[in-house]
Amino acid sequence: MTAPPASSKPARPAAAPGAARRKAAKAEPSRTALVRRARRINRELAEIYPDAHTELDFTTPLELLVATILSAQTTDKRVNMVTPVLFARYRTAADYAGADRDEVEKIIVTTGFFRAKTTSIIGLGQALCERFGGEVPRKLKDLVTLPGVGRKTANVVLGNAFGIPGITVDTHFGRLARRFGWTTSDDPVKVEAEVGALFPRSEWTMLSHRLIWHGRRVCHSRRPACGACGIAPLCPSYGEGPTDPLVAAKLVKPGPFS
Ligand code: SF4
Repeated sequence: MTAPPASSKPARPAAAPGAARRKAAKAEPSRTALVRRARRINRELAEIYPDAHTELDFTTPLELLVATILSAQTTDKRVNMVTPVLFARYRTAADYAGADRDEVEKIIVTTGFFRAKTTSIIGLGQALCERFGGEVPRKLKDLVTLPGVGRKTANVVLGNAFGIPGITVDTHFGRLARRFGWTTSDDPVKVEAEVGALFPRSEWTMLSHRLIWHGRRVCHSRRPACGACGIAPLCPSYGEGPTDPLVAAKLVKPGPFS
């Protein structure tokens, strides 16, 4: 999979009066203006990242569920390095339920927190067998009762394995949603609700991928590459990182991250 260019659009022109423009952009927009701008940002990101998708490798809902549990506190790339062996060895929920702890730990050790993750995925297999006939449930309220599964993981599985719209609030999504002025909250549940209210449900899954892709590649936590950002003209946080195009271009991480 080849990642698209991090930004195919030029950043906003340097000639505009930066301070005045930032002040105007940061001014509290009306609800209508906020929704309009949010949807425009989503459309622009769709053009910049036409093939945004989850960067975890999987072929079944169970595989995605396990991969997402493993992705806590590590990179998708790291997870994708261990899952081929794990998925070949354990194919069903029953396989995980009856797995040998030491064996699982050895396979996933490089993903970090491997003891807790082993406990989660063996417990996951047991819970799926005991309560869901060995199948991954298709409802958020059921998914979040499984070991190691919070709302973020549940929404990843709903959106990507079942095609049921879900907003995935990870660290990138939350940061970008705050920078765009879509929320002021640090609470993922509130972020999910407030951002969800700005978009039709049908956009939720792809919106999540686009924000996460942009956060990984351009809008970094510490030094966002504002001067190389394709949605700079729409962003009320423009200027939070370097606006000089040459400086900013060096900050862009082209991916892929899988
Ligand atoms: S903060 Fe900067 S890098 Fe992030 S979206 Fe806004 S303009 Fe782009």
